[in-house]
Amino acid sequence: MKFNLNDIIRPNILSLAPYQCARDEFEGVASIYLDANENPYDNGLNRYPDPYQAELKSHIGRIKGVDSHQIFLGNGSDEAIDLLYRIFCRPGRDNYISISPSYGMYDVCGKVNDIERREAVLTADFQIDVPQIQNLWDENTKLIFLCSPNNPTGNTLNREDIITLCRSFNGIVVVDEAYIDFATTPSFTNEINHYPNLVVLQTFSKAWGLAGIRLGMAMAAENIIALFNKVKYPYNVNVLTQQKALDTLIHQADTVNLQIAEIVKERDKMSERLRSIPHVERVYPTEANFILVKIKEASRCYLQLLDEGTVVRNRSKVILCDDCLRVTIGTPEENKKFIEQLLAILD
Ligand code: PMP
Repeated sequence: MKFNLNDIIRPNILSLAPYQCARDEFEGVASIYLDANENPYDNGLNRYPDPYQAELKSHIGRIKGVDSHQIFLGNGSDEAIDLLYRIFCRPGRDNYISISPSYGMYDVCGKVNDIERREAVLTADFQIDVPQIQNLWDENTKLIFLCSPNNPTGNTLNREDIITLCRSFNGIVVVDEAYIDFATTPSFTNEINHYPNLVVLQTFSKAWGLAGIRLGMAMAAENIIALFNKVKYPYNVNVLTQQKALDTLIHQADTVNLQIAEIVKERDKMSERLRSIPHVERVYPTEANFILVKIKEASRCYLQLLDEGTVVRNRSKVILCDDCLRVTIGTPEENKKFIEQLLAILD
């Protein structure tokens, strides 16, 4: 298979001349800025942000071991998911493949963009079935969405299977690694120089503790990132978000690492504890910051937990997740309370 990026881009995007904002035309340092119709009175936020977030990307690049030009930053990784459709998929003509069960936004964005979905149901142990996926694609299949660790199942997908898809698919393989910082398996960011069709998604919303600033990233070969830059809103990541992310990367990395270690420890403790409860039928192995638990009368449990003031995610109507709740790992005190509440409900 010879992957050729230009062959799979939507023709209107391939030929698009992107909007040139004021800060595209002039990138240097001036003493007087009369180019962008901003209010000149300094309040810390009167200037537009850097459209390409150069400083932030250079820090992220160092941490992730990728070049700045291999990073796209967006309003959550949800923005990157939406842009992938807009860059590659012709509405009403092209299709994409996504796994079930998995994160819901791949399919919502697919519908918004009027792109046909082809569903690849995971095996009973929540792995991908490579030949099944290979049978699903045709010449109009542009994207395959994978998620590892997967949401809501918590497991990582087999590395070799992902690599087989990258090698054999003539479109883009997206590996969503929103939860990778909680996993022991290595990230696929190390592979973006080897596979020209691989896009890795990560986010500041989970391990970094910054869900409120809305910052997500896509990492891929430079020519793919150039397409994201072409299609995105010019100032898609605001000044406050850039500042807060930089401050956290520079000053809070140690704290974040301690929090991750604590969450992982609590997760493993909570898994053990749940396994010892008779009404709990199955605690699925997890490499994320949540646990999928199969429990008798999950929906009743869910409602009774709500009565106690604790909200978990009821996944019992999701394919392969009958009677399953997805429980995020909280602080040690919150986890202890949750277990006490669950024991009282199941008593
Ligand atoms: N990917 C997965 C697998 C997720 O579970 C989530 C959020 N729940 C996201 C992406 C979205 O992340 P963001 O907050 O960066 O949009």
